[in-house]
Amino acid sequence: MKIMKFGGSSMANADTIRIVSQIILRQSIQQPVRVVVSACSGITDALLNCARLASSGKKKYQSIAADIASLHLSFLQALTPNKKITDTHPIRCLINELNNLLEGIWLLREAAPSTLDTIASFGERFSAELLAECLKCTHSAQFIDTRALIVTNDQFTAAAVHMDLTRRRFHHWHTQFLQQHPETIPVFTGFIAATQDGRTTTLGRNGSDYSAAIVGAALHAEQVEIWTDVDGVYSADPGIVPEAFVVPELSYEEAMELSHFGAKVLHPATLAPLRDLNIPIQVKNTFNPEAPGTRIAGEKNPDIDPTPASGITAIDGITLLSWSGRRKTDISFTVDRLFRVLADARVNIFLISQASSQHSLTLAIRSNDAAAAIAVIREAFRSELKQQLIRLEKKSEQIILAIVGDGMRGVPGVAGKMFHSLGQQGISIRAIAQGASEHNISLVIDGHEEARALNLVHDAFFSREKKLGLLLIGTGNVGGTLLQMLAKQIPSLHQNRFNLRLCAVANSRRMLFKNAGIDPAAALSALSDSDITKPLHLERLIHEARTADFLPLALIDCTASGELVQHYPDIIRAGLHIITPNKKANVLPFAAWQKLMDEFKQHERHFLYQTNVGAGLPILSTIKDLLAGGDRIHSIEGILSGTLSYLFNHYDGSRPFAEVLEQTEKDGLTEPDPREDLSGMDVARKLVIMAREMGLRMELEDVMVENLVPDILRAGKFTRQFYPRFAACEPDMQKKLAEGQKKGAVLRYVGSLKNGKAHAGVRLIPKNHPLAFTRASDNIISITTDRYQATPLVIQGLGAGAPVTAMGVFSDILRLLHYLPW
Ligand code: ADP
Ligand code: ASP
Ligand code: MG
Repeated sequence: MKIMKFGGSSMANADTIRIVSQIILRQSIQQPVRVVVSACSGITDALLNCARLASSGKKKYQSIAADIASLHLSFLQALTPNKKITDTHPIRCLINELNNLLEGIWLLREAAPSTLDTIASFGERFSAELLAECLKCTHSAQFIDTRALIVTNDQFTAAAVHMDLTRRRFHHWHTQFLQQHPETIPVFTGFIAATQDGRTTTLGRNGSDYSAAIVGAALHAEQVEIWTDVDGVYSADPGIVPEAFVVPELSYEEAMELSHFGAKVLHPATLAPLRDLNIPIQVKNTFNPEAPGTRIAGEKNPDIDPTPASGITAIDGITLLSWSGRRKTDISFTVDRLFRVLADARVNIFLISQASSQHSLTLAIRSNDAAAAIAVIREAFRSELKQQLIRLEKKSEQIILAIVGDGMRGVPGVAGKMFHSLGQQGISIRAIAQGASEHNISLVIDGHEEARALNLVHDAFFSREKKLGLLLIGTGNVGGTLLQMLAKQIPSLHQNRFNLRLCAVANSRRMLFKNAGIDPAAALSALSDSDITKPLHLERLIHEARTADFLPLALIDCTASGELVQHYPDIIRAGLHIITPNKKANVLPFAAWQKLMDEFKQHERHFLYQTNVGAGLPILSTIKDLLAGGDRIHSIEGILSGTLSYLFNHYDGSRPFAEVLEQTEKDGLTEPDPREDLSGMDVARKLVIMAREMGLRMELEDVMVENLVPDILRAGKFTRQFYPRFAACEPDMQKKLAEGQKKGAVLRYVGSLKNGKAHAGVRLIPKNHPLAFTRASDNIISITTDRYQATPLVIQGLGAGAPVTAMGVFSDILRLLHYLPW
């Protein structure tokens, strides 16, 4: 025989009740079934609301009661379309009884806990009647009121079951039932019971699961099935953690801890009666009955690899009380009494944490109990509090986060992993406790961090993929190309367990945030519709970063903005890594740069800027690798500006230099103001960046730079008049070119780093030298080291332009993914 319990979500309307009855009928062919039901979804709340309104004299209760009545009548009508609903139909009788009781409450203006239980009992009485009626259309079924069978004490609203008495009553009832109706399916009311003298009680909210366990234990069922609206017990609440998965097996202890610490899918009291008799529980989905569900039993399948954690849960609405004394003794003498006082006031303590110094003790209780708890403590410790021997403080809006698993027993590092995952995102832990049986580690954190914390800890223990959320600022050439690459590459990365998500995008006009992810292919049009019409809404960015639950995040700065760089420290503190082709940060004055680098270190954030030198070429990473491998760099020289490379590769004297420049500008290969390229400052910046990579304390002003723009042409706005005036430099250029031709050399604008000195300017390069072999806008760099002495290490290739720069940024994103732990 098995028990099948259907929750309120399965009893939501006539259609779902019909599904429930089909499941029952299918199962009943194989073995006898006993059914337990919850009230239809939302009805218990509505009934209690009615009682409260009536007791406070509010007539509104009548319209709610009328809705409850018509809802059940409409379900009945839909389930038994061929039957007439007479005035003596049990559902009509229940409606009349309920209305009379509510009127009584309204007249008396009183709703004691016992009254609330009586009113709440109608929910299960209605639903069990409905299901029995529905089953009766094809099979024999009978409504059974558990108030005649389950005996409890008189702790109304959360009564305790007298198991022996209950068992005896069930035994008696069942013997008769089997004789009289061997084929009938009994449908028991969940949740409700009665005292020995017949007063209605309830087993606490969500208590129908417990009813099923009581029925199962009393009837010695072979299995208890809990049918709900999800595929089983998940590794975390699937409504909060999208990546939660169904746990196939749990031990009784694990299920007990999970339900106790907030996994709503099972009432915590359900497990004990079944564990004692070794009756397994199967959690199943009414709306997906083929899914195997979760099996809860004593033994786990030895073929399934044990993991340290089976699930993560949270209880919200927690208040922390901290109890501290001036001296150790002040506290130790009061602890005993403190617990007694709280127990007498029926305050449930969820977690206790005490420092070994014993100067303080922290307790986590339900916020609903906080006022009562504080009142009884103040009363009991009036004199100690007055003399300030002890202090009582409270912190509300907290949650308890618990990680549960038999597999953590004796496994080191479980707590560490949990703390690290939270600490990394700046979530502070206010109290910690671990049970002696090591099934669970629980900690208290601020309530508003619930979703983030659950997702982070879930990721740390269960993630089979690496996640990275991107916030892209700048959608110009590089940013725009990067979006296209992301659109193309994200799906294939996902197959390799890398989960990249574009969470925000911004340009100089608007910003767009979307936690669930923005399709990179449609990002630009989505951005143009965004209602955040600010180029960089920093407060919003920081807020989004601090509240995001898809983590970690990286800012992709595809701007050339110095202003954004000023905000890097705030962005780092909000927990973001930064990836950028923007050179501004790396050429800040040395002290400011060092401070920024320290900020990255201190917050354990990565800063990736591979594209600062040579766009997509692996120049900075090679320098890093050489140094990390113990090599010593003697000198670096190279052609580091794509524009200057192009100019000198094309200037052979057949056309004046100014003409080559003008053509280069027209081809879009220069800055809008070509003087910026000619000034050599871009080369100087790259030299500084490489020098700092090598550990040199170099400033931009330390670089000797040859500016190709004559003094008189440097000031003022750039106009086309620049070219004829710049042509005046031609004789100088011609002279250099001729000198080179005589020596078998070519002209190149070269940056070099040697003996701690940096230089950028035009040099004659022998035709057989590697730097002479550049084409188009190639960059080339030659590095001489201890190991690469006779033949320097040379890196050459296209060193500018959106496609290669975006590719370099993309490879920094991949690099960051590799740095992040699994
Ligand atoms: P029923 O109406 O069947 O009694 P409940 O609403 O009481 O169902 O419980 C099922 C709900 O519990 C699920 O829909 C889910 O939102 C929630 N839940 C919370 N934690 C978990 C978990 N760890 N596993 C499964 N469900 C969970
Ligand atoms: N109907 C009750 C409640 O809503 C019991 C249950 O659903 O399990 O709390
Ligand atoms: Mg439930």
